Amino acid sequence: MTNEGITIVGSGQAAFQLAGFLRDEGYVGRIRLIGDEAHLPYQRPPLSKAYMNGEVEAEGLSFQTLDYYARRGIELHMGAPVVRIDRAAHLVETADGERLGYAHLVLATGARNRRLPALGLAQPAVLDLRGLDDARGIRERLAAAQDILVIGAGFLGLEFAAVAAKKGARVNVVEAGPGLMGRAVCAVVGDAFRRHQEALGVRFHLSTTLGALTPLTEGRLAVELSDGQRLEVDLAVVSIGVLPNVELAEQAGLPIDNGIVVDAYLGTADPDISAIGDCAAFASRFAPGLCRIESVQNAMDQARCLAKRLVGQPAAYDAVPWFWSDQGGLKLQIAGLSTGADEVVLRGDVEAHSFSAYRFREGELVAVESVARPSDHMAARRLLSSGARVTPAHVRNQAFDLKTLLPAAPAVSPTA
Ligand SMILES: Cc1cc2nc3c(=O)[nH]c(=O)nc-3n(C[C@H](O)[C@H](O)[C@H](O)COP(=O)(O)OP(=O)(O)OC[C@H]3O[C@@H](n4cnc5c(N)ncnc54)[C@H](O)[C@@H]3O)c2cc1C
Repeated sequence: MTNEGITIVGSGQAAFQLAGFLRDEGYVGRIRLIGDEAHLPYQRPPLSKAYMNGEVEAEGLSFQTLDYYARRGIELHMGAPVVRIDRAAHLVETADGERLGYAHLVLATGARNRRLPALGLAQPAVLDLRGLDDARGIRERLAAAQDILVIGAGFLGLEFAAVAAKKGARVNVVEAGPGLMGRAVCAVVGDAFRRHQEALGVRFHLSTTLGALTPLTEGRLAVELSDGQRLEVDLAVVSIGVLPNVELAEQAGLPIDNGIVVDAYLGTADPDISAIGDCAAFASRFAPGLCRIESVQNAMDQARCLAKRLVGQPAAYDAVPWFWSDQGGLKLQIAGLSTGADEVVLRGDVEAHSFSAYRFREGELVAVESVARPSDHMAARRLLSSGARVTPAHVRNQAFDLKTLLPAAPAVSPTA
């Protein structure tokens, strides 16, 4: 065993991208990708959208076919959970006892679903959605299900609810908070999606919690809700958020704070270990304190940033966070982070489901939530990235073109 090369734990979006970007940047050393799932690295976003509604099959989710990895010299170790890091010896150990060395180790371990302790997932009709195997199980059950309960009105639960409603199932969503996607978007945006989902036939039980769950015959369940209603369902999908996979790092003595703590260059407290993607907690100019972002954009941009550092071109991670969700044909795009936002200004037509919500924190634009307004979203990413001074008054003036606030592009010399 040699302690050479870059070893990546995880085989999700961040890990896959990092391996590819390293080769793009000219890295010629050894690259190992170690993932606990048996599948070739694949995309998760379609699991709750195009895969769930049958537009895409599992094979269409893989980022690349097997020969890509051989061609690019990326060694795959699939179905191999890493159980221990030995920092002194510069090696990791998998569950079946294999020991793999590293010169630099990257933790891209992602996140896992939160579970309701009282519920467990012991009932065959109660499932949760994170990986391809979960999605396959839910899709199979969905084909025959008539009555579906979604627990949690976050992005994934709502994407699934829209797919299920469009298939003709009766869908109820129970949510402890007062609105949809309450941790991520303002009330007006949450409400627009509620009206859209209700038009698809979805029924919401907001500010409501789950009570007793009783198995019935033929795999059905009776569910008591705190609003006094009793539902009988064939399928309950739990979608109540995620927890970062930090245990490996924690056991190795690395600092943890709702994620594996990394510096501006995505390095941990150990100079030979970095962390990227859903599992990494970092300071960002877009949010107070440390943040941890669960998005494809963050996984990709952190992979790109780290690849550059590992080939000797370090730059601090400073990408504008952005995210999308597609719910039954209505698209939400978010630029920035709304943590601590205290003012919202709307532009566009809320009733027609075509508007953007500009979120301000102490007068500073921190996030823009766009409903079916892709051009607002693209402009918002540029405004936030440039640090342009956008005030609530600018946004309130609907006729004012916010793009004029962008700093002028540097003049290009005709001979350049
Ligand atoms: C159903 C679904 C829909 C989504 N839709 C969107 C969307 O529309 N837009 C968007 O921006 N984002 C979306 N996301 C979020 C996005 O997919 C994630 O933010 C992204 O996948 C994070 O990439 P990652 O590599 O950090 O983590 P992951 O993709 O979670 O990959 C981590 C991998 O590491 C493995 N692993 C963990 N511990 C170990 C270990 N000890 N040993 C070996 N392997 C290990 C995990 O099993 C997993 O395979 C969605 C996520 C899900 C689940």
